[in-house]
Amino acid sequence: MAPTLRTPSERTCERCGRIEVWAEGIGTWRLAVDEAGDPHAVGSPYCIHEWDINGTFAPFESDAAEA
Ligand SMILES: [Zn+2]
Repeated sequence: MAPTLRTPSERTCERCGRIEVWAEGIGTWRLAVDEAGDPHAVGSPYCIHEWDINGTFAPFESDAAEA
């Protein structure tokens, strides 16, 4: 039985608060914006983002070598 890999559709940086959403059409993360097109939270461009999806979506547990 093939494992089902759940893909998160949104992630938030635990360090700077940046919010990104998964753009499935282009296969990459994009800055989350509201209906007016303004970013919810840009965060810091110098931040080494620490995405909260590691805790919520953890299909594999031991792949945190770079943390
Ligand atoms: Zn960050």
